[in-house]
Amino acid sequence: MTFDSLGVHPDIVRAVRAAGYTTPTPVQAQAIPAVLEGRDLIACAQTGTGKTAAFLLPTLQRLAGGRKSRRPRALVVTPTRELAAQIGDMVNRYGAHLGLRSAVVVGGVGMEPQTRRLRRGLDILVATPGRLIDHLGRGNVQLSGIEVVVFDEADRMYDMGFLPAIRQIVAALPSPRQSLFFSATMPDEIEALIRRSTNDPALVEVARRAAPADAVRQVVHPVEASQKKELLKRLLERPDVGQTLVFTRTKARANQVARRLERSGRRVAAIHGNKSQSARTRALNGFRSGRIDTLIATDIAARGLDVEGVTHVVNFDLPHVPEDYVHRIGRTARAGRSGDAISLAAPEERAQLSAIERLVGSAIRIEAVEGFSVSPTAGAKTAARPHRPRGSRPGGGKDKPWARNRRRAGGSGQRRQATR
Ligand code: AMP
Repeated sequence: MTFDSLGVHPDIVRAVRAAGYTTPTPVQAQAIPAVLEGRDLIACAQTGTGKTAAFLLPTLQRLAGGRKSRRPRALVVTPTRELAAQIGDMVNRYGAHLGLRSAVVVGGVGMEPQTRRLRRGLDILVATPGRLIDHLGRGNVQLSGIEVVVFDEADRMYDMGFLPAIRQIVAALPSPRQSLFFSATMPDEIEALIRRSTNDPALVEVARRAAPADAVRQVVHPVEASQKKELLKRLLERPDVGQTLVFTRTKARANQVARRLERSGRRVAAIHGNKSQSARTRALNGFRSGRIDTLIATDIAARGLDVEGVTHVVNFDLPHVPEDYVHRIGRTARAGRSGDAISLAAPEERAQLSAIERLVGSAIRIEAVEGFSVSPTAGAKTAARPHRPRGSRPGGGKDKPWARNRRRAGGSGQRRQATR
């Protein structure tokens, strides 16, 4: 199958080919023809599936065919600044031969340059919800000319508390219009909103809800909480470890881990909500270019990040929300490559691990790293435990708490990946 055969215009196919893509991904193959027909769409697709091009290509095609107006004719709403910037880049890339005008408006930077940009007129607007509401409130942009609206990562916007903002945006949109919703999972509130805002939508589901990418090798290393930094440092010394994304539960822990790794000679940066937008952009660009080899991130900051060539994702802390595990490990093994997802799990994180295994539908391989293990008597609820010196319990992988956990999850312990 080719992009031509899906009905994509030759000028767009040319740009897509220049980006290195010749075969549509499954979500593209299913979504593009429906969107080109003008239908509403609900797509259950996680990042890494090629979903951005799935909504951008037909939307750009529609804009290229219409007449120019000062008001935007297409709107893409996405949860994070980084995602918005990425989508803005793809608009420029895929629309390289179309002469369309686009703008990206996100929080964390001054309103004034965005206001000037919006007033100059544009065809497609990419925005995060909060900043879009600010501009709407000040009359800097009107949505009355919107023909196509895309809500990208709708579930994440809901998680981040943007539901009221999204409702406000929907209320400002004209009808009829074409509405496209992309969401990896479908919380009830989002489903209700989507049902109210779409008309006879085409449905596309490319992977079972929350199924991790099959090409990701997953492993759990049991470790005492106090030993995690040491173990992380050790893992990063392995020769096959390249560009690595490390997830922590909190901003403070991201900073602590970054400081510890810096001392060990890694080229490290941290991104989280307390960093300025320019620091986040600098860190991300450094990671993309390879100047930084280890990016420490919290879930929200890293959601949807698209960086090619991430060889390893390390869960320094297991996430509290099991779906976040799937989003995290989807940062590696992108676009046909393989990758490794390593989780450092302390005894007190056993409940999170069980929840993740239930979600992905299989047990994740557990493997002790020599010199790092958990005490066999460790209780799940014991928060503080004595520091155990390195090397005191080699081969602790057979420790009972983990063995128990594995039986509960019903797996052999040797399976390498989740079933779909
Ligand atoms: P997304 O799901 O939109 O975050 O995209 C995931 C990755 O797949 C990005 O790096 C895209 O550049 C890449 N990609 C998009 N379309 C294709 C395609 N047809 N073939 C291969 N890679 C693609």
